[in-house]
Amino acid sequence: MPLSQLLDGLVVKDLSGFFWVEVADGTVYMCRLRGRLMEEAQSSDIAAVGDRVKISLLEDAEDDFKGVVEEVEERRNVISRAVRTEGNRGAGQSEREHILVANLDQAFFVFAAAQPSPNLRLLDRFLVIGEKAEIEDLVIVVNKIDLEDPSRVQAIFGQYEKIGYKVVYTSARDGHGVDTFRDMLKGKISAFTGPSGVGKTSLLNRLQAGLGRAVKAVSNYHEEGVHTTRDSVLIKLDSAIYGDKSYLADTPGLRTLTIWDVEPEELDAYFVELAPLVGKCRFGDCAHGNEPGCAVRAAVEKGDISRTRHQSYLKLRDELEAAYALS
Ligand code: GDP
Ligand code: ZN
Repeated sequence: MPLSQLLDGLVVKDLSGFFWVEVADGTVYMCRLRGRLMEEAQSSDIAAVGDRVKISLLEDAEDDFKGVVEEVEERRNVISRAVRTEGNRGAGQSEREHILVANLDQAFFVFAAAQPSPNLRLLDRFLVIGEKAEIEDLVIVVNKIDLEDPSRVQAIFGQYEKIGYKVVYTSARDGHGVDTFRDMLKGKISAFTGPSGVGKTSLLNRLQAGLGRAVKAVSNYHEEGVHTTRDSVLIKLDSAIYGDKSYLADTPGLRTLTIWDVEPEELDAYFVELAPLVGKCRFGDCAHGNEPGCAVRAAVEKGDISRTRHQSYLKLRDELEAAYALS
């Protein structure tokens, strides 16, 4: 088929080797992969939700599938996990990258100002995952602000604004901040995650009627079922409200993703306020704990770096080192 007949599309769902591809006019075609694509060595998934692809349509399709994925564009970023393979996947590899979702524009990490009180360790983990994945915009959503004194909320989350993260303050109860949040979704592919009980479903329903139910990430994740249930799906947001091409990624696995494929030595690169100082430490392999001449600790003492973030870093680093010692 000549190249001019290929259609540009976006993978919005994948299941059992089939890919649902949305093209410019909004039609979604169920596609399989061109065999040629599968012959190449596979250290990663060939196609995944969020991929930009080119498809050809089958002229007299009798099966359920109506098209073939011919090309997959290079990915801007991925959220993935390493999975062990049982051999025969080619090139003797024991680990490959399994992609949960590709090409996210932004990720929203939702916490509550109170009830439950914010789990900042978990937030810092999410931020490490987002930084490692190189997602351009990482946004913190602080919901239930109606339940907490604004100055206390500001004291906690202001430190994240100071280091460059966007923070949106919302109340799904009274609607505060929901318009701001809604505007940020326009024209983007966004992931949305957070611990249970923080008000994710309520917020989604505020954003668009019925959206809370559509996004199952929130409540229906079964840890053992990772390989049998789908990993992600892109939910198209109502174009009457959001304009064309706005999607929410429902990625159940995101919530329980570990940071164990981050090496202890690279962790400081993903703490954005620590990273620029690392080169100034006396020792090249400084872990920013009790080493003499540590520029990070000096900045903490001066008040330039938040003590809680530094502690969070040290705690995560300990965990990573313990995990590596075991493996
Ligand atoms: P999810 O587990 O993150 O999806 O949280 P839900 O949306 O199910 O909300 C958990 C509980 O918090 C429910 O009882 C909601 O009514 C309540 N809730 C959600 N958002 C707010 C909010 O902004 N303010 C207050 N006061 N309660 C909220
Ligand atoms: Zn140091």
